[in-house]
Amino acid sequence: MTLFRASVLDTPADPFTGGRLRSDDDCGLLVEQGVITARGPFETLRTAHPDEPVLDLREGILLPGMVDTHVHFPQVRIIGGLGLPLLDWLDQCALPEEMRLADVDHARGVAHDFVSGLVDAGTTTALVFGAHFAGAVDTMFEAADQWGLRVTTGLVTSDRLLPEPLLTTPERARAESRELAGRWHGKGRLRYAVTPRFSLSASDALLESCAQTVAEVPGAFFTSHVNENVHEIREVASLFDGAAYVDTYDRHGLLTPRSVLAHDVHPTDRELATLAGRGTAVAHCPTSNAALGSGLFPLRRHVEAGVRVALGSDVGAGTGFSLFKEGLQAYFAQQLLGEQGLPLTSAHLLWLSTAAGADALGLADEVGVLSVGRQFDAIWVLPEPGDPLAVGLANAASADDALSKVFALGTTSDVGGVWVGGDQIAAGRWRRPRDR
Ligand SMILES: [Zn+2]
Repeated sequence: MTLFRASVLDTPADPFTGGRLRSDDDCGLLVEQGVITARGPFETLRTAHPDEPVLDLREGILLPGMVDTHVHFPQVRIIGGLGLPLLDWLDQCALPEEMRLADVDHARGVAHDFVSGLVDAGTTTALVFGAHFAGAVDTMFEAADQWGLRVTTGLVTSDRLLPEPLLTTPERARAESRELAGRWHGKGRLRYAVTPRFSLSASDALLESCAQTVAEVPGAFFTSHVNENVHEIREVASLFDGAAYVDTYDRHGLLTPRSVLAHDVHPTDRELATLAGRGTAVAHCPTSNAALGSGLFPLRRHVEAGVRVALGSDVGAGTGFSLFKEGLQAYFAQQLLGEQGLPLTSAHLLWLSTAAGADALGLADEVGVLSVGRQFDAIWVLPEPGDPLAVGLANAASADDALSKVFALGTTSDVGGVWVGGDQIAAGRWRRPRDR
């Protein structure tokens, strides 16, 4: 049992429907076997539990662990390939690298780099886009299991248009997916996600095999891409007799509350209605959208249609693992949309980075906020003294202002501690927490 003492910020209620930032200056969180069992003023908890060890984190800010709802494991080594639109970037940057993961030893190294990137950024839960090779997906599950991260991932499948080494058949995709799910789905904090790459590279037969796999693996997630780039959308329509992109998944029954589609930069109103009706969530990936020139995400239309939205880093088209940067870029995008944009506060950014992601991944009862009954998944934001973020926090006018500074100035280097299920899995680059 440990009593944590910290300034705690989280978003127990959705700011898009009136929720506000919850801020407790000198907060006590009692953690037993990974679960928060009491929360209140520190002195009250100290009096009630005088003998428990105290971890004093008051120097920085304690936030819920970050939740990344769209991030590609095979692309960690190609982050930063700027200057290309989606389909050219895939051909020249992403797919050549993804083919290298046929070699399991190479994949194991990539999985290590990838999981290190997540942990350093304070990401404790992620929906991870896997690899096209089953052996590589095993290495991803192994690495996530070693670190204790909450990872949902699976075999990426395609049966057309991609380079031949990345292609499979509907039958082989289903067999390999079932084997992987049998090994990993439900083991510790791991879950399986059925993952066709996108409709562009997935025939109706492949998508139908995905639907069969979802039905055969109770509790499995479904994830893919949708409406990212206008050229891509035209190609998908031509391959599916003019169908709307969302419908290419929906007509196979693939859209449910356990589905997450990345991007959706260019949806029609009817597609938004379909997503809302199915309870399917959208992973908004703003640095990727900007880097590939995909467009500015219509957040207001999603919110008004009732579509759930959370943040994704979309590494490696996205420019890094930090959801602080994604939050800031999401804010920028809405500013640039002018009257069509949805102005975001720091509470919105924290919600999109944590509780909204937990909700999209069906984990809202477990993580995303630091409330009694939830797992203690948390990050300690602790900038080095003299750093502009440290200066900003010392001079913040309010908790909302302090949180704005975290999103404006925070980087992975400012993550001074990471806990998953009560276990500290990273201690930050420059200081360890004080035991007292
Ligand atoms: Zn992606």
